Amino acid sequence: MIDKKLEDAINEQIVYELYSSNTYLSVASFMEEQGLKVLNAHFLKQSEEERDHAMKFIGYLQEVNGAVRIGAIPEPPQSFKSVEDAVAKSLKQEEEVTRRINNLMSMAHDQKDYATASFLKWFVDEQVEEQASMNDLLLMVRHAGPHLLLVEDRLLKQGVKLATPGEAGA
Ligand code: MG
Repeated sequence: MIDKKLEDAINEQIVYELYSSNTYLSVASFMEEQGLKVLNAHFLKQSEEERDHAMKFIGYLQEVNGAVRIGAIPEPPQSFKSVEDAVAKSLKQEEEVTRRINNLMSMAHDQKDYATASFLKWFVDEQVEEQASMNDLLLMVRHAGPHLLLVEDRLLKQGVKLATPGEAGA
């Protein structure tokens, strides 16, 4: 049985992952409005990944007989000044996710809940990757200046696949 405080904190994290997923939907839509179809596809994929993270936490709580409680998801950012602003906000969000994962890990250690710590290890590693790739994207956008199609070309070379919302395997 998982400790109640840790259970509450994981339920909060589920909401934050869903919020992150919605933020990336918002960013993806902004990219689409700018005619940046590859960046649109890239952020749609990020959105799906965040939803998968929420599902992983839900699955874990169920496995340890915790109660899943889906709270209200705050409204994601709605407007961005520029592509750079949208990517910078995305990086800030990843940094916040990392901070929250680290807090969960500290709680698990405090409780000597090694099963939860082991489960969280995947997220610790994932956040290193997420922050690094969002930081790379921000640097790329800054280097490209107004030539954002260069960023799109680079993303295509890195394997981003064009897709429309709702299409499977995006
Ligand atoms: Mg996540």
